[in-house]
Amino acid sequence: MDFEAWWLIFLPLLFALGWMAARFDIKQMLSETRNLPDSYFRGLNFLLNEEPDRAIDAFVEVAKLDPETTELHFALGSLFRRRGEMERAIRVHQSLLFREDLPLAQRDHAQHELAQDYLKAGMLDRAEEAFAVLKETSFALSALRALIRIYESEHDWPRAIAAVQNLGKIVNEPVPQLVHYHCEQAQFSLAQKPPNIEQARVALSLAERAVDAAQKSGSSHAMVRVSMLSASIAASCQEVAAQQRYLEAVLTQAPEFAGLIAQELFNLYSTHGQAVAGLSRLQEHYQQYPSLDLFNVVFRGLRTQQGVEQAWRFARQALQSHPSLLGLDRLLEAELAQKPAAEQAGAGSPIPGADLTLLRRLINRHTQRLDRYVCSNCGFQARRFYWQCPGCNAWETYKPRRLEELE
Ligand SMILES: [Zn+2]
Repeated sequence: MDFEAWWLIFLPLLFALGWMAARFDIKQMLSETRNLPDSYFRGLNFLLNEEPDRAIDAFVEVAKLDPETTELHFALGSLFRRRGEMERAIRVHQSLLFREDLPLAQRDHAQHELAQDYLKAGMLDRAEEAFAVLKETSFALSALRALIRIYESEHDWPRAIAAVQNLGKIVNEPVPQLVHYHCEQAQFSLAQKPPNIEQARVALSLAERAVDAAQKSGSSHAMVRVSMLSASIAASCQEVAAQQRYLEAVLTQAPEFAGLIAQELFNLYSTHGQAVAGLSRLQEHYQQYPSLDLFNVVFRGLRTQQGVEQAWRFARQALQSHPSLLGLDRLLEAELAQKPAAEQAGAGSPIPGADLTLLRRLINRHTQRLDRYVCSNCGFQARRFYWQCPGCNAWETYKPRRLEELE
């Protein structure tokens, strides 16, 4: 294409058009800025100076002067929620929803914000209703995740499971706690009077399926829980051999969880007249996977079967390779429980001349706080083992180890 000189005539014209457009933009910006109330800039200033209380007052002023400013309402609402001022957050979002001129997308947004306010305020019924309205909107996924959390906190396992299934239809994301929902359902059926064994079996088979489905991302916690529940169902049906088989499976599936099932397994061996074989199995396991809970079972078993000397020999070795105040405390507790009061002053004790009662009292004072399972997420400490932390509701955050073993 040839360049022709007469095209140059257009150049000044283009410059003129550009200049006019720029002036128009600047004028518009200036007029918009002049239209903004002073409170808006005051609010910004307070925010920059990290004075959120005064910033909020200034923005509330702007919102009153110009009730049409939806974005400012949204910003204020979520600011109130973050600060825990739930009543104010709810009021702001409700007032947005009352506006008839609000476009549909913003209405859904306000509904989503309001549902989150209810959730944070602990008004679960209202939160549930508010999230349920969002099913067909662009907030469906987030609403469904929130609903799962709500059903979970209400211990409404059937609805939690149904919600997870719906989530699977929208997005392919693993929900590791699904196994536990089924297990909770099975446990609930077992706890009924009389136990609903059939329902428990159905729930457990669904839990097994969920474990299989999550094989790659599956956890030892889930497998152990399924085995323990299978053992409980077998126990309810007096199927002792099956109960023992399920508990033994834990030793191979997740050896570090042995402490959770050791006592029950040892009792089963004893009922079958196999107490010696059972104890040696557990003792062997302890050599490879030592833990305090297992130590207790083995120590008590040895004491009953082979007497004080053998039990103390085991305990001494165990405490030498894994020094533990808690272990020593348990040892003294068992020792004291066996002896009549007169002997507890030291006579006949394997520690010559020791006052075992005094010794135990001293140690026990320090071990109280160490004798607990602890949540790795929030630090909540508990005497019993939990699959779901009662403090922060996270799943599988407890290790089968006492606090002292974790330090
Ligand atoms: Zn926790």
